[in-house]
Amino acid sequence: MEGYINQVKEKEHYYFRPPVCPRQDYYHYGCDRGNHSAGKSNGEASKTRANSCKAYISFKVITDAGISGAIIQKMQHHTGHDENNSKEKNRIHPDLHSLVKIWLQLGWSTSEVLIKSYDWAQQNGHVDKKDSRFYLTPNDIRLLKKTLRGVGDSDSVSVDHLVSTELRDNICFYQPLHNEQPFILVVQTPFQKQLLEENPHPMVFMDASYKGITAYGYAFYALLLINKTGRGVPFAYFILSKETTTTVSLCLQKLQLSNPSFYLRSDKCYPHYVFVLFFVIRTTGSMHV
Ligand SMILES: [Zn+2]
Repeated sequence: MEGYINQVKEKEHYYFRPPVCPRQDYYHYGCDRGNHSAGKSNGEASKTRANSCKAYISFKVITDAGISGAIIQKMQHHTGHDENNSKEKNRIHPDLHSLVKIWLQLGWSTSEVLIKSYDWAQQNGHVDKKDSRFYLTPNDIRLLKKTLRGVGDSDSVSVDHLVSTELRDNICFYQPLHNEQPFILVVQTPFQKQLLEENPHPMVFMDASYKGITAYGYAFYALLLINKTGRGVPFAYFILSKETTTTVSLCLQKLQLSNPSFYLRSDKCYPHYVFVLFFVIRTTGSMHV
């Protein structure tokens, strides 16, 4: 089977994924580009390696009268891509793919992985440097890194998009990260806003956590009030890339602007007020103000 697949690869320049074996006597080799395309590429073959191609070769092993053979079925019509077009991107070879993942997990940089993968391709006798199965681009590595981390360079774009669309009604204030300008997000859902209106209380509680967004080292603040049943309920959240009196004060001011029942004693009191909040949080490790 391997031999047959390799022959097809060499002759037609189409590549297949390692076999899927739903039964012991059946081996299904799907086209290497069979994955469903997602994202901005729209499945364009020059931009993505996933083209939802349905081509395959399968082997059904049969044994009769002590002789074994295989029935080969082929769907040779490849759709969405043309392996003979050098502008298209072939999928990374599975062996190299696994190695790159390991190297990235070891914390290697993009350029280190690039050099290492180049050496690997050379050592394994792959000389065609245009062959994108063995010769990666820095972008290939960045994409893999993104898949591994689950977060990526485009996160700021995603946040921009989310706060202006789906989450728009829940955003009280948003300042995107830009050069020296810290990232600030004040979140308050309409329900939380109503909750604050219904539970006016001279005292609120504030707690900061750093565990939820450690990938960025951002601070996450929850503001709580005591409801009529005596329970602490969150009525707003702050996410800050820089945790200073100025940024926290700004969040509180923005929150005050959109919540008439939430007021701080006076503008002049902000630094002091925030200082007290910080002091109590730092002292108790919790949020009792
Ligand atoms: Zn195909």
